Amino acid sequence: MVGAGSAGCAMASRLTEDAGTDVLLLEAGAPDEKEEIHVPAMFPHLFKSEADWEYYTEPQDDLGGREFYWPRGKTLGGSSSLNAMIYIRGHPHDYDTWADLGNEGWGYEEMLPYFKQAEHFEPGADEFHGAGGPLNVAEPADPHPVSGAMVEAAVETGIERNDDFNGAQQAGAGHYHVTQKDGQRHSTAAAYIRPALDRPNLTAETRAQVTAVRFDGSRAVGVTYEQGGDTHEADADAEVILSAGAVNSPQLLMLSGVGPADHLAEHGIDVVADLPGVGRNLQDHLFAFVVHERTSGPEEPAPSSNIGESGAFTRTSESEPAPDLQYHFAPVYFMDHGLSNPEEGVGFSIGATQLRPESRGRITLDSTDPFDDPAIDPRYLTEERDMEVLVEGVREARDIAAASPLDEYRGEEVWPGEDIQTDAEIREHIRETCHTVYHPVGTCKMGDDDMAVVDDSLSVHGLEGLRVVDASVMPTLVGGNTNAPTIAIAERAAEMISAEQPLPADD
Ligand SMILES: Cc1cc2nc3c(=O)[nH]c(=O)nc-3n(C[C@H](O)[C@H](O)[C@H](O)COP(=O)(O)OP(=O)(O)OC[C@H]3O[C@@H](n4cnc5c(N)ncnc54)[C@H](O)[C@@H]3O)c2cc1C
Repeated sequence: MVGAGSAGCAMASRLTEDAGTDVLLLEAGAPDEKEEIHVPAMFPHLFKSEADWEYYTEPQDDLGGREFYWPRGKTLGGSSSLNAMIYIRGHPHDYDTWADLGNEGWGYEEMLPYFKQAEHFEPGADEFHGAGGPLNVAEPADPHPVSGAMVEAAVETGIERNDDFNGAQQAGAGHYHVTQKDGQRHSTAAAYIRPALDRPNLTAETRAQVTAVRFDGSRAVGVTYEQGGDTHEADADAEVILSAGAVNSPQLLMLSGVGPADHLAEHGIDVVADLPGVGRNLQDHLFAFVVHERTSGPEEPAPSSNIGESGAFTRTSESEPAPDLQYHFAPVYFMDHGLSNPEEGVGFSIGATQLRPESRGRITLDSTDPFDDPAIDPRYLTEERDMEVLVEGVREARDIAAASPLDEYRGEEVWPGEDIQTDAEIREHIRETCHTVYHPVGTCKMGDDDMAVVDDSLSVHGLEGLRVVDASVMPTLVGGNTNAPTIAIAERAAEMISAEQPLPADD
């Protein structure tokens, strides 16, 4: 298995529950020893650290040529060791869309049992939640008062109160549940791998970067990896599984000869399988912010704070089948990932996100060196509808920020700023300041059309002994954060690989 991130750790742990299955888990990053990984409020300190791949996109022409910074976890636990710990599954509609696209077994009623199987929901099991699973899901331990005030403010604007976005309905405003245990981050390394490390059938190697999948004809027979300056080969008796994430799984496939034949030819790579969809169909969420100075409340959030402590889901129109806007409420300044916050004072931030962007980007090779970054071109906001929804999001975020529960906290509006009022001005502000919500998916999409990379058992089309199991297989981006969905994909994949009966669908 390549990559010990959200999917890789969950799957390696599940597969090795069977003593007859041997797993070699290869992770490019270091062990998850940094303090900032474990203390939730410190996660922004991991940006641009050695636990971060620190990617940059190609210049985005429609956005002033900006090259967007993309953090991605490079350590045991992958991006689950770097993320904001928000536990959101998306909307049932998202999974039913996957099933409608021809992916059998991936509808909401079939996926719900895997979310529950993964979960230990601290408040207790119910029809939507599991208890006893590896991943601890908690209510926020000590949220900042302004996070509660933002929820009250949203309610005053007419948004329903919702205490469980993963329950009977997603729409509404409330506090997020978090993947934390005893006030510390519960990454997939903590939840799944650490408890499994003494199994004799699991070998986990860190600082081991896979550089190629090796093939015998159309069968994947192993991988080549570099560790400590040496090149190693590992053979796979059963199969090779890529869980390197939405950037690196397609990169590794292309480096190994699996991808669009014309693109591989440009780089002189021999074609093992011509799969034009590898690296295509890239989808990501964007944040457009309303940020205020904050005049009261504790200066710092609690150490257990996940920063995006509360939020809301709304629809731009009643005809939308599911909420198409999500808000993240933060009790601090969060400008440019927190990297460009004002030096003085404190703030609060409301990030508006369009949940189902229509723009599609791509990941391609820049070179044949596996240690070079691939070219990431999300083509953000190339579809007009995406900008329209974000403008509505900024307007709704402003309404929330103006509501009376925030009176005691609200200082001057820093972003967009009082002089930015017309649609044209808000659009320009979004172009200049929007940034990723860190949810790239779709670059090895599941399906049976010409652009699909894996089938609904997550096996790569046209090849044997090779699967992709991570966020890249999502055919469409879910309406919410992507960690829990990726873990549920891994839970389901582990069961398919073990050839066990699927869990019964949840009615
Ligand atoms: C800053 C940030 C905040 C986020 N906040 C949230 C949130 O609050 N809630 C939420 O639900 N989601 C959040 N996400 C998104 C979520 O964490 C990801 O969607 C999810 O972790 C993706 O899982 P994955 O298994 O596809 O990839 P990853 O978890 O990224 O795992 C890929 C792993 O593969 C390794 N790897 C890559 N290439 C190689 C190679 N060649 N050889 C060996 N190993 C390799 C990587 O180092 C990494 O460990 C956030 C993400 C980030 C970056």
